[in-house]
Amino acid sequence: MSKIVMKFGGTSVGTTEKIAHVANRIRKEKEKGHDIVVVVSAMGKTTDELVKLAHEITESPTKREMDMLLTTGEQVTMSLLAIQLNALDIDAISLTGWQAGLQTDNVYRNARVENLDGSKILNLLEEGKVVIVAGFQGVSSDGEITTLGRGGSDTTAVAIAVSIEADICDIYTDVEGVFTSDPRFVPNARKLEQLEYDEMLELANLGAGVLHPRAVEFAKNYKIPLRVRSSYVENEGTILKEEVDVEKNLVVRGVAFESDIVRLTIEYEVPFNGSLASIFTTLANNHIDVDIIVQSIVDGVKPTVSFSIKKESLSEAITVLETHKEVLGFTFADFEVGLAKVSIVGSGMVSNPGVAAQMFDRLRKENIPVKMVSTSEIKVSVVVPQQNMILAANALHDEFKLGLSQ
Ligand code: ADP
Ligand code: ASP
Ligand code: MG
Repeated sequence: MSKIVMKFGGTSVGTTEKIAHVANRIRKEKEKGHDIVVVVSAMGKTTDELVKLAHEITESPTKREMDMLLTTGEQVTMSLLAIQLNALDIDAISLTGWQAGLQTDNVYRNARVENLDGSKILNLLEEGKVVIVAGFQGVSSDGEITTLGRGGSDTTAVAIAVSIEADICDIYTDVEGVFTSDPRFVPNARKLEQLEYDEMLELANLGAGVLHPRAVEFAKNYKIPLRVRSSYVENEGTILKEEVDVEKNLVVRGVAFESDIVRLTIEYEVPFNGSLASIFTTLANNHIDVDIIVQSIVDGVKPTVSFSIKKESLSEAITVLETHKEVLGFTFADFEVGLAKVSIVGSGMVSNPGVAAQMFDRLRKENIPVKMVSTSEIKVSVVVPQQNMILAANALHDEFKLGLSQ
């Protein structure tokens, strides 16, 4: 008998029929004698619709109230699923994030899990119940309701798995596992049987929306076996591990991409010692995530710092920069929208110095201009015009022979 966390994403619980299907899947696991905790997302596109409703009222809704609004989505699903299981004579109980003991910091809309006391869930499991927990939500130490960022139900699932020492955390979704790239846009993408936590972490951080990055981080840190599998097709899916079998370890394992990237450029008359630190500390203090940073100090040219952020942070970043212009000491700021980031990821890259060159060469052959570059031991990312994003992803997928046909 094992303790299993089963997480079902939005499309998997999009209608009451689908909820009934999920309930059946849960029943099968329960009948095998396992203890089951289920984490659910909001039904279908509910979260998007709630965001849209708020934006019909104002362009900048208050963050606290957005969290109050968005957490209702998951609460609808959790109770409908409990009602469905109860109707099947399965003893089930639903809990909000705060009832389940999921404590976060106080950053509305993008809170981090700080603690999860699993004792309540464990007691309910002991009573033989299936415990259903609303994903994506928690409570801060001052009693405020928070959300974990878009896609955050995955993180709820892994956090619960850690707190109850589950044997496995299964993420049920609308694809059969983690693919070499998003199968919706890269038709040649192939399902991976296994993948290293670190590779998945990079892919998730670089835009592969199949898993929330913090879920992968938790699973890696606490060594929770994490599996991505289909809600509809019964097969093994993709299992994440510390290290994968050598023969499967291709140099490049996946291609990720992310649209709506903005490049901000700041120009100085004269740079001062610490100007870089000041900018990025100020942005970080205002919770603005900065990605690729390029500093250019060349004799005879005004020094600049360019960095990429997500489009959704643009207006806030501009406000923060304007407010602190004097202290930060820059003279001019500009931005470029309509960009995207495309990345190749693979732990085998460490020992293969030619990979970046091969990537740039292929992009040149496809006539795709590269605006920014960033590398780490296991990834290379480029910022390209958004209209070239899908072409770049498919070309690189092909270049590194990741598809089915090779
Ligand atoms: P859920 O609602 O179940 O959480 P998501 O939409 O968050 O589902 O994640 C599943 C989607 O992730 C897939 O439909 C797919 O389009 C997308 N995706 C992006 N990159 C990948 C990848 N490398 N492998 C599989 N799916 C991916
Ligand atoms: N419902 C939330 C979202 O759409 C959380 C999740 O699905 O994981 O982002
Ligand atoms: Mg998701």
